[in-house]
Amino acid sequence: MQKLINVISLSGGKDSTALWLYALEQGVDLMPVFADTGNEHEKTYEYIEYLEKELGPIRRIKAGFTEQIENRRQYVTNYWPDKLRKDIPGKWVIDPGVPTEGLDGVLLDDPPEVEPNDPLKEYKGVYGWIWRPAINGMSNQEAEETINRVLEALIPTGNPFLDLCMWKGRFPSTKARFCTVELKVRPFFDQVYLPLIEGGHHIISWQGVRAQESYARSKLPEREGTPEGYEIYRPLLNWKVEEVFAMHDKHGIEPNPLYKEGMGRVGCMPCINTGKAELFEIARRYPEEVARIARWEEIVKQVSKRNGASFFANL
Ligand code: SF4
Repeated sequence: MQKLINVISLSGGKDSTALWLYALEQGVDLMPVFADTGNEHEKTYEYIEYLEKELGPIRRIKAGFTEQIENRRQYVTNYWPDKLRKDIPGKWVIDPGVPTEGLDGVLLDDPPEVEPNDPLKEYKGVYGWIWRPAINGMSNQEAEETINRVLEALIPTGNPFLDLCMWKGRFPSTKARFCTVELKVRPFFDQVYLPLIEGGHHIISWQGVRAQESYARSKLPEREGTPEGYEIYRPLLNWKVEEVFAMHDKHGIEPNPLYKEGMGRVGCMPCINTGKAELFEIARRYPEEVARIARWEEIVKQVSKRNGASFFANL
């Protein structure tokens, strides 16, 4: 029999908690789901347990990358012996931080026609274009050592965030933000929505986003359908942050304690979008998280082609 199923993605943050409380007030029976990225602070895991005790059962899901890592091992084994020995030519790419407007006000849509004198060095500042340096191919011995290093370390750990980075050979970044899709969106769809859709059920996905958070969010509609066949509902769209905390107070539910400790947002600890001030608070209060990320950097470095990896590209 077809059922209407209301699903909520719980992050352990204030908005999704307020949303759950709002739904309970409305008498709506929600299915709360927590997608564990593996990069959450211990207090967030404890907070999820607290919510579960206070409000009801929470389903936990997490992404897995064992198959992708095995595929990458095959790729490294089969293709890298040739690939690593080939020269990679340099090329001009658009610098996303600089408008491609020339000094004379003319837009430079096409890359500069000349190559820099030294194509092996990065070159900046040509009407918003950057020269991505050429890379000389490795010698046979360098290629062999690289492949051995990567294969030795490229073994799934069971931690979704770390395994994702090992699969990709790099950390996500603000410009290559593959983490949200791989750690939240896709596991949610594959593990929660798809089986329900295939079972013939109608799903409403409750989302705790608010217009106050960003310009992009202020443009979102309260309700919309998705091509995948479920509906999205955003009842907190016009709520102010004070109303969110007031909802916690009204129901005697504590917000995640991380808010009182200088964290502007609750999610990954740290998130690739974390700014310097919040990072300072993380380092001051939770040096063990910084140490963990340093350990992860060593592991991802081992499985990267060029033996380098950094959680924050530029701060
Ligand atoms: S964007 Fe930030 S919070 Fe979201 S998955 Fe990536 S690191 Fe985690």
